[in-house]
Amino acid sequence: MSQPSQADIFAALQAQSSSSRKRPPTQLISDLPEGEDAKASLTNGQGTNVTKIHCFRQGCGCVILAPGVGQWISADSNLIPSEDGSPFPGSNASPDNQSAYWHITGSPMSFDNIGFSKPSELKSLSLNAPGNASGKKVKWLSCADCDLGPVGWSFEGGTEAWLAVERVRYGVKP
Ligand SMILES: [Zn+2]
Repeated sequence: MSQPSQADIFAALQAQSSSSRKRPPTQLISDLPEGEDAKASLTNGQGTNVTKIHCFRQGCGCVILAPGVGQWISADSNLIPSEDGSPFPGSNASPDNQSAYWHITGSPMSFDNIGFSKPSELKSLSLNAPGNASGKKVKWLSCADCDLGPVGWSFEGGTEAWLAVERVRYGVKP
C-alpha cells in the first residue's frame, strides 16, 4: 500500500466540499400552495417547526434553526423595521393586524447559526413586541453566514428570541 498522494488528498477534499455545498431545496412561506394553511404545513400538533429553517437568501443555505426548536406565535405585524431595498416581503398581516413569528427559548445556543446586532435602543420595535420590557435594548437577528437581516429580534441579556416567519426559508422534501 502506497501513501495517498497530495493530489489524491486534494481530490478527496474537493469532493467533500462540493457535496457539502449542495443546497437542500427550500421554500418561502409565499411559495406554499395557495390556500394551504402555513401554520398547519410548517408545524406539528404542538406548534413547533417541523422543517429546518434556513436563511432567506436562496444562495446562502445557512441553517438557522433545527426542527422542533421554534414555537409558532401570533403578535403585532410589522414589529421588525423594513429598510429601503430590503429583500423581505411586506408582512401579510391579517385583518386584526397580527403576524406570525417563531418564538425560540432557552439561549442563543438554541440556534444552529445566528448573528446578533449590537444592542440598540428600541426605536422601531413596537412596545407591543413579545418579550419587551421597559429599558431593555434590542438585538436584531441576522444570518450568521451572509449577515442578511434583520430577520428577528432578541433583548440584551435575554434568553428568548423571535424570528419573522416570512423572513426565513423552510426545508422541503426533495
Ligand atoms: Zn445567509
